[in-house]
Amino acid sequence: MRMLPGRVTLTLGLALAALALPARPSARQTPAPPIVIRGVTLIDGTGRAPLPNATVIVEGARITQVGTQPLTVPSGAQVVDGRGKFLMPGLIDVHVHLNGGGNRASTQPMTPQQERTGTAALHSFLYAGVTTIFDAGNQGSFIFALREKERADQIVSPRIFATGGTVTSPGGHGGPFYIESWPQDRAILDTHLAGKPDLVKIGQDEHGWMMRPMITKLPEDLLEKIIRYYHSKAVRSTIHISNEHDAIEAIYAGVDTLAHPVIQSPISNTFVNIMKVKHIPEASTLTIGESYSRLVEHPEYLDEPLYRAILEPAEIQRLRTTVSASYKTDGRTAWMKVMTPVAQENVRKLNAIGKDIIALGTDLSSGADTHRELELLVAGGVPPADAIVIGTRNSARFLGKLDDLGTIEPGKLADLVLLAADPTTDINHAKQIEMVIKNGRVIDRSKLELPVNRK
Ligand SMILES: [Zn+2]
Repeated sequence: MRMLPGRVTLTLGLALAALALPARPSARQTPAPPIVIRGVTLIDGTGRAPLPNATVIVEGARITQVGTQPLTVPSGAQVVDGRGKFLMPGLIDVHVHLNGGGNRASTQPMTPQQERTGTAALHSFLYAGVTTIFDAGNQGSFIFALREKERADQIVSPRIFATGGTVTSPGGHGGPFYIESWPQDRAILDTHLAGKPDLVKIGQDEHGWMMRPMITKLPEDLLEKIIRYYHSKAVRSTIHISNEHDAIEAIYAGVDTLAHPVIQSPISNTFVNIMKVKHIPEASTLTIGESYSRLVEHPEYLDEPLYRAILEPAEIQRLRTTVSASYKTDGRTAWMKVMTPVAQENVRKLNAIGKDIIALGTDLSSGADTHRELELLVAGGVPPADAIVIGTRNSARFLGKLDDLGTIEPGKLADLVLLAADPTTDINHAKQIEMVIKNGRVIDRSKLELPVNRK
């Protein structure tokens, strides 16, 4: 124990030294001027009470100072008057399937049309204050190409993390990486790993629930071998599950996160207790299930400003007609209408026992969906202040990126959203966006490729 104080001091000293270094812009980026946001009410993503009259200083890509005392303002800084406004971390959606991708097994290069569709979806996220997404299953050659362009600063985009194709049993949920025998099929995982997935998404589901046909599952021992193999390559894992049994099995097979809540039934006390001990991050994904009955019963949501801003008029028309008609006869519409409140309550319960468990995921592809997820969390009994933590810090934790993302603290990457009203009193205020900053640079929302900018 006597060793500890010295070690702590050393660690702290190193941390301070690291902070004192000028933030280093990525090689490909033109350096942005420092940004000083003054007099703002800070909602830092940690769950702490909002801090009035705060100043946040951004240098290069990172946040360097946060506080209410006078701070050392770097020269040449762009000063933002934050009085009467609210600053929160950029939102993170940890379950997206970006529009534009085709067959997940395809290795064809991304086409210009795919890039246009994907970019429009990416812009919808940025417009809505979503600065990071995790694509949980897509055509690898499409999503990895966009990820490379984002990282090379060749496109305006939220940060992209992606799995590419997903891993499952032959005939199981997802694909195209089908694993049956071990170690022979390891070569298939190596093909997936060659694309450098940020996380692996595994598909695991049972037979015949909802409108599903009979599908096969990975046996428990094989599931564990797969997860271990990814861990040996330093790749984190997430898994599609829909029932509690599969969720528990996956947790004990070593999975890092759950890509969905349990939706087939109310969770048992046993599951609650396991999560109390394990704190396995779980994506909320309420929006996809609710979207069917919402479109059929309340199509007027498409008139809300955020949807008008980012959905093409032709797409709104298609949703109101063809898509709505197909949902009316789709068995999923009624099933999901019944089960969404069950999933909401399951999510509320887990958030109540461990404030770091639930992360924000939509299973969809637009920034409007991300905001719908916040609304559904709150409608299910999650306090608005918790919903912000879920959409920021907890989602960074889900991705294993908490060192860099998810909160407004010195040393973190500067992904920030300035709001005109307080989202902790009304979650709808999270839509009153005045400024979006990603990687220390202000996003020009008026230049995003969206219908709102074509008027
Ligand atoms: Zn999904």
